[in-house]
This record gives sequence, C-alpha cells and structure tokens, in this order.
Amino acid sequence: MQSTSNQAMVSPVITTKQRATSTAPKYIPYHLGNFKQIPAVRQYLSPQQIVDIEVVGRVFPFRLNNYVAEQLIDWRKAADDPIFNLTIPVRGMLNEAHYERIAGLLRAGASEQEIKQAADAIRLELDPHPAGQLQHNRPCLNGELLEGVQHKYRETVLFFPSPGQTCHAYCTYCFRWAQFVGMHGLKIAMKEADRLWQYLQTQPQVTDVLFTGGDPMTMRATVLRRYVEPLLRSELGHVQNIRIGTKSLSYWPYRFVNDADSDEVLQLFRKVVQSGKHLAVMAHFTHPHEMNTPTVARAIENIRATGAEIRTQSPIVANINDDAEVWARMWREQVRLGMIPYYMFIARNTGAQHHFAVPLERAWRIFKRAYRQVSGLARSVRGPVMSCHPGKVQVLGVKKVGDEKVFVLRALQARQPERVHQPFFARYDPEAVWFDQLSPADEESAAFFQQ
Ligand SMILES: *Cc1c(COP(=O)(O)O)cnc(C)c1O
Ligand code: SF4
Repeated sequence: MQSTSNQAMVSPVITTKQRATSTAPKYIPYHLGNFKQIPAVRQYLSPQQIVDIEVVGRVFPFRLNNYVAEQLIDWRKAADDPIFNLTIPVRGMLNEAHYERIAGLLRAGASEQEIKQAADAIRLELDPHPAGQLQHNRPCLNGELLEGVQHKYRETVLFFPSPGQTCHAYCTYCFRWAQFVGMHGLKIAMKEADRLWQYLQTQPQVTDVLFTGGDPMTMRATVLRRYVEPLLRSELGHVQNIRIGTKSLSYWPYRFVNDADSDEVLQLFRKVVQSGKHLAVMAHFTHPHEMNTPTVARAIENIRATGAEIRTQSPIVANINDDAEVWARMWREQVRLGMIPYYMFIARNTGAQHHFAVPLERAWRIFKRAYRQVSGLARSVRGPVMSCHPGKVQVLGVKKVGDEKVFVLRALQARQPERVHQPFFARYDPEAVWFDQLSPADEESAAFFQQ
C-alpha cells in the first residue's frame, strides 16, 4: 500500500556492500492475461471494473508490475487513485461505440483474431502517430534514411535504441502507445549504435543526444553500454550532454538500487560523468505519490552520487494530475530530493485524448497557481508546453489585446532557431486542447502555423 508518510526522507544511502546482500524483488509483469492474479484486483475491484479492463486493455497497452501494484496503487480508492488511473485502463478511455464493439466480441466469444482486428481498426481511428512522428525529422546518412533517429532541433538528436522500446509499466495516456501493441511497421527503432555514431560525426553542431523510447532503462546495462560508450570517443567531443529519458524511477526504482546489474548501470553513469560530459536523467514523474517509497529515494541518491543530474517532466492529464496543489507538491518534493523540475507538457492529441485532455487555458491556470506556490528553485520548470509540429510551444497566458482575447505563446524549441523565444499570438478558444485547433491572431504570428 502506498505510504503517505515521509519515510523516504530518512532512508540511508545504500552502499555497494549493502547492495550485494539485498536484492530487488523478482520483477513480476502483469498484463491482460494475468492481472486477476494481483490479490487486490479480486479484493477491491467490482466485476464491472474487471470487465472494463478486459475490454479497454485490448485497445490500449496494458502492463504493470508488482512494484506498481503493491507499492504505488491504492486499490481501496481504485478509480479515484491517481496511480490506478495512470496504469489501469478504464472505461472512459474508449467512446461508447468502440467500447461496445470490443465488449460485444468478447461476450460473443469471438476468436482472438477477430478481436485483434477490431482493436487494430479502433487504434487506427485514434491517430497513433501524431505530429508526423514517423515521417518527419528523420535524418539521412549516406543517402539512406536513418532508423531510430529523429533530428528536429539543431542541437539535439533523439535516439530510440531498439531494445529500449518498452517500459516497466505502461501509462494509460502514453502517446507512444502505438509502439507497444505490436502493429506491423509502427515501431521506431534502430539496431546499430554505430550508425548513430557515424551520423553524429557529420553533425558538429549537435551538443545533446537524448536516449528515449519506451524506456531505455529497460535495457540491460551491457546493452545500454554498447550505445552510450561510443559517444564518449574523442571524435564526438562536440556531444557534451547525454540525456536518458526514463520512467524507471517511478515504475521500477530497483533499477538503480539492487537489480542484478544496478552497479553496472551506476558505473556507466560515473564513466560518462568522468569523461567530462553532462549526464541528465530525464525522469518522468506524473504524481507525487510516485516519490513516496524508500526505494525511489535511494535510487535518486544513487544516481546523484554518480555525478548525473535528474531533471523531471510529465504531461498534465485529467483524472490523474490536473490540480495545482498536486503539481506544487510534486515540484517541491522533487527539489527536496535533489531533482530539477524541467517540463510540464500538454497531453498529445492521440489515443484516449478525449479522456485525458486538459484545455490549454485550464492547463495554464493550473501551472500558474502551482508555480506561484513554489520557490525559485522549482521554477526551473517550464510549461505548459505542447511538443508539436512547429516545435515546443509554451502557453504563456490568455490576454486581451485591443478587443480581442488571445493566447500568448512562445516557442521554447523550434525547427528554425530564429523562432525560439519569439512570442506569438493565437485566437482565444476556451476549448482548444492542442496546437492544431489554434489559428494565428495576427499576421506576424501566421508563420508559426504554416506546415
Ligand atoms: C523535446 C525534444 C527535444 C529536447 O528539447 P529540449 O528543449 O532541449 O529539452 C529534442 N528533440 C525533440 C524532437 C523533442 O521533442
Ligand atoms: S513511460 Fe513514457 S513511453 Fe512508457 S508508457 Fe509511460 S509515457 Fe509511454
């Protein structure tokens, strides 16, 4: 059960010697086929809630593990618990027609293949690849399209190592959900670290490489090392910063404490830092409850002891964290634990967005109320931000200019560097939840909206 106390605060740094004698619990994956074996499911969920999981879990990726089930979710609150809503598919994620289509097939005892076909068809209706993720931003090397690499912003290359395209548990709101459900041709991946290395040699302006997924920290240390170590060679002196995007601190913090290869992971981090590069763990935390266990506190200490920094980011999502007090608590707790708040994102326009979407104006109001409550150390956070076609667009506010109400926006990142930090305006729309619903409020702003 989830702890509300601050026991995390007093947990000691675990030494290598202690680590050797205390091993992580065995990782038990739960999914559609076995989730009813979680004792709390039988104890606390209604038969209807179980059916809902069976129906909605056919369309959206569904996976959790014993750490999430036993230490994060408060099953007594079930559908009112943020971590339940973060990891367990619920009815509201599908519209009535889609829900009925799958529920009907299950009731009729349809074949696995029929159900799968229906689920695939529904997924295609839910825009599995927003913002042209697969088509755009893919660079070439020697005239050949590079798999698993996105290069959108001048300084930063995104890399998707193919063995890291899964997660220790899946978030219900995940915008990469299409990658996990085994649909042909949708996986963005790259087998060869060597090709990344070659590409980076041709790009002297690149300072940052960001490993992403899925969750790269699902990879074994020996595999991760194969990707990271080549970046330390002298040919890539211009690559100063290595970032690893991960939700492992939330979903399996043992990764950095007492998994079989935790020492090797921490050793690799130390090696990166000692080579003179900056290593940033970009930690995905959705809710302060994810920071309550002694294991996560220890994991944070162990990572920081290597010299790596931890920066935090999350989308703002309805039914999970659309509350200013929750964000303020989360940022304060992150700073206290030695982490640096970085981004509050707007949930992307994909999947169950109708269930998770927070209108832009409301997201801005929540951000503002939370930001006002925290000290400058937590105000390193920027948001709310949409990662969309023109770049990373921050909603700075709603303002009346003359007679017209507008959204004041700015690009924190843009494909064209000259657009960064340039304010621009969109017509006010109280219901808008994403950039593609906005239109320019003046002539000067129009350039930001051109595809
Ligand atoms: C967010 C993002 C980055 C990193 O941007 P920073 O503002 O440097 O954190 C890089 N590439 C893509 C495609 C991104 O979406
Ligand atoms: S951790 Fe990230 S990639 Fe993995 S399921 Fe959650 S949102 Fe998706």
